[in-house]
Amino acid sequence: MNLEKSSFGTKAVHAGQDIDPITGSLLSPMYMTSTYCWDPPTRERYLSGDKDGIFTYGRSRNPTQNELQKKIAMLEGAENCLVTASGMAAISLAVMNAVHSGEHMIAYKTIYSGSFKLFTQIFEEMKIDVTFVDDISEETLRGALRENTKVIYAETVFNPTLGILDLEAFAGFAKANNLVSIVDSTFTTPYLLRPLEYGVDVVVHSTTKYINGHGDLIGGAIAGKFDYIDKIRSSTYQELGPVPSPFSCWLMLRGLKTLHLRMRQHCENAQAVAEWLEKQPKIEKVIYPGLKSHPEHALATKLFAGRGYGGMVSFVVKGGLEAATKMSDNVEIAKYCVSLGDCDTLIEQPPLMTHGMLAREVREAMGIDDGLVRLSVGIEDVNDIIESLQHALSLV
Ligand SMILES: *Cc1c(COP(=O)(O)O)cnc(C)c1O
Repeated sequence: MNLEKSSFGTKAVHAGQDIDPITGSLLSPMYMTSTYCWDPPTRERYLSGDKDGIFTYGRSRNPTQNELQKKIAMLEGAENCLVTASGMAAISLAVMNAVHSGEHMIAYKTIYSGSFKLFTQIFEEMKIDVTFVDDISEETLRGALRENTKVIYAETVFNPTLGILDLEAFAGFAKANNLVSIVDSTFTTPYLLRPLEYGVDVVVHSTTKYINGHGDLIGGAIAGKFDYIDKIRSSTYQELGPVPSPFSCWLMLRGLKTLHLRMRQHCENAQAVAEWLEKQPKIEKVIYPGLKSHPEHALATKLFAGRGYGGMVSFVVKGGLEAATKMSDNVEIAKYCVSLGDCDTLIEQPPLMTHGMLAREVREAMGIDDGLVRLSVGIEDVNDIIESLQHALSLV
């Protein structure tokens, strides 16, 4: 079977998986070890420069991780992939590989709060300048461009306001100006969107979310050109040391086998929830790319090619923070917590939780109202999710 030519779901199940040559085990064993012993022939081979298949120490790589990287690379259509201990580690390593002290980068303003803090507080200390832009029009980007600009960064879907990145324009600007384009595709996953196909250079993920999908680990991934990833692997990755445990890699391999099934259900449920919410008089506004009322509905339809519009729904409850809190506290099926992309429906209030550490002006500039609620729609039966929302809303 030529896996390269197979459809997405087949890749999700089979990619990266080899039958164990020693035992015949269908699934590869997990190697829970910190170090690997060399016999004299292995040592000779390693010293002669033939390092293929030789493991040394768990901070460099482990076999379970290799398998996971092959799977993610194939799903993203990437030459190479590196997985990390968290999404933030993936973002840090991917960006710091291309922009250094004394240089400059451009980032879209609405990004994950951890990324925002990295690009402001940490990068300020590292003397890396960052310009945040309000839109990615040619004119705006040209205005932000400097002689020493190296990187342009954005998320495929803006969090939590769910705007959609015009990937072609974004990648096109980067190519025309010799910048490395990096996108965080956590919300879309390779099931909905493969940014490299649009000319983006590097894709990063918090695999904590949909890629693993079961809420039982923290992880990240970087995918892109062979050399770009290899440079990270042999430098910052080694020395800063954000390696994922073999067990996390094993769980992610297991989670990825159902990525297409889970994403299909997340999308179907979220669409139904968004359409229902839009009809409720106590809801001021519903933001979901699958709704005709979404300003980038057409762009999302083009980019996601009919596969759906993702599992995240944001909405504003009439009556501001108090009403939003009352509602969020009473959606019985949903767990009130940060994070997203789990099988379970999760609910959170961006102004209090994920974006609570940002100054009010920054939040408002990102379009985060006090009454905003973000729902990560799970894969439960959708009638139960809607019933639960209806009950909570009746108490507002
Ligand atoms: C959660 C998240 C991150 C950070 O990932 P961690 O795995 O928590 O380090 C980055 N970007 C987005 C869009 C996220 O949702």
